Amino acid sequence: MSILVVGSAAFDDIETPFGKAEHILGGSSIYFAAAASLFTPVRLVAVVGSDMPSNAYDFLAERDVDLRGLQVEDGKTFHWAGRYDYDLNETHTLATDLNVFATFAPTIPAEYADTPFVFLANIQPTLQQSVLQQVRSPKLTMMDSMNFWITTDRNSVEQTMRLVDVVSINESEARLFAGTSSVLRAARSILGLGPRAVLVKRGEYGVVLFTEGDYFAAPAYPLEEVSDPTGAGDSFAGGFMGYLASAPEVNAATLRRAVIYGSAVASFTVQAFGVERLKTLSRMEVEDRCREFQRFTQFGEF
Ligand code: AMP
Repeated sequence: MSILVVGSAAFDDIETPFGKAEHILGGSSIYFAAAASLFTPVRLVAVVGSDMPSNAYDFLAERDVDLRGLQVEDGKTFHWAGRYDYDLNETHTLATDLNVFATFAPTIPAEYADTPFVFLANIQPTLQQSVLQQVRSPKLTMMDSMNFWITTDRNSVEQTMRLVDVVSINESEARLFAGTSSVLRAARSILGLGPRAVLVKRGEYGVVLFTEGDYFAAPAYPLEEVSDPTGAGDSFAGGFMGYLASAPEVNAATLRRAVIYGSAVASFTVQAFGVERLKTLSRMEVEDRCREFQRFTQFGEF
């Protein structure tokens, strides 16, 4: 089953203790599409400026990402600059220049309106809601957000949470959103708004899946070298939802497997700057890493 993703497309400037990259392709929808398209067809809706080279997305088109929903507007593409110190879990945003993104009003092409899986990547929460108004009874909807929107437009973030099936959020953002230091309490308060599941992303410490009756914690894949954590969250979401969309049904077992698929894809993303590793990543490599996850999380029967 196919997935519709609506999110940002960007030029990113990234600095980590291990290197620097300027003016590279980024954005939440791009990372998500690169990851999810390893599993299932993806339809992408985003906006770029006239400064974005038209061949920037060739690698997505080659993977059957439908780019008819990509809008090109006069002006500059959204630009984000970020820095990470040795604690790669903490992102320091240096610049957020919305540019053409400031007036972005996502228009969902008529032929995308019946897409069964919908991912609302990190964009203005009111725009996420407008996407939900344009799709017809999707099977599963999922949203992501970030501290930028939680601090500037918390009510709208909450409103979007009330409308989706799954919320994906960073640990620090969950605490910020719920006003508590307890991640468990924060996840419960988000579940109380209506979603069936909350995914709390904990960077190098992994991901926790909370549902009404279940709790599942997955570690991150152990890596000695992380080049650039940008896009880990979006590519996690892409692997998670990509697997679910290709699974026979969404249930407690497939949700858990989806967490592992997402974690495996994200572990590749962070091994190179930007989307470079995702460009060459194969489904087989992901499957191999999932099997490793299985090996190092087994502890027999009690
Ligand atoms: P993450 O998976 O959280 O590391 O997402 C990284 C991507 O989010 C980068 O490629 C940025 O271009 C994009 N981004 C950063 N700030 C924003 C924002 N305020 N709205 C939408 N996308 C953003």
